[in-house]
Amino acid sequence: MRLLEERILKDGTVLEGDILKVDSFLNHQLDFSLLKKLGERLYEIYGDKGVTKILTIEASGIAVACGAAEYFNVPIVFAKKAGHKNIGDDLYTAEVFSYTKGKSSVITVSKKYISKDDVILIVDDFLANGQAVLGLKKIIDEAGATLAGVGIAIEKGFQKGGKELRDAGISVSSMAVIDSMSEGKIVFGESV
Ligand code: 5GP
Repeated sequence: MRLLEERILKDGTVLEGDILKVDSFLNHQLDFSLLKKLGERLYEIYGDKGVTKILTIEASGIAVACGAAEYFNVPIVFAKKAGHKNIGDDLYTAEVFSYTKGKSSVITVSKKYISKDDVILIVDDFLANGQAVLGLKKIIDEAGATLAGVGIAIEKGFQKGGKELRDAGISVSSMAVIDSMSEGKIVFGESV
């Protein structure tokens, strides 16, 4: 999506460790008009798949999920990170290694909110090594639900997640794919 690529070029900052900072529109301050456009594009791609729920991971995925829910008109479920004691003990769990924090955490979803009848679209802000998406997929598999696809705002194509997920037969649609990045230079690949 040209619009997102232009915004990344205008407002993104490349940090050490291959991290792109997009705090001004995606990860701290939110541009909801842009998020809705990403959601609209996801609906063009997955709108006919019978999606019943959007699944994401707190915190930054929630904003992207809200943009998508505008169009899909289905509930958003967000996986919680460890430390939440108030969602009961009937939980699906998965271990996820965080790329930005450099450590693992356990994510949880209450069994109340995902069932075998659900058709689920996973949504997240970034795709790097694919750990977050794989953790969410494990929860979907445990619930016996169906994965419709994965919608990502920014995929770092030079990291392995996108290739591994696609090689596993999962439909992954990224609104912007970064082929390479260094301070002052971001090169985009093909995106949806
Ligand atoms: P993965 O699980 O695919 O390795 O990494 C994706 C997760 O790590 C996303 O949920 C996102 O929050 C975070 N992440 C990975 N790379 C970046 C990055 O370059 N910038 C930001 N802001 N977050 C990232």
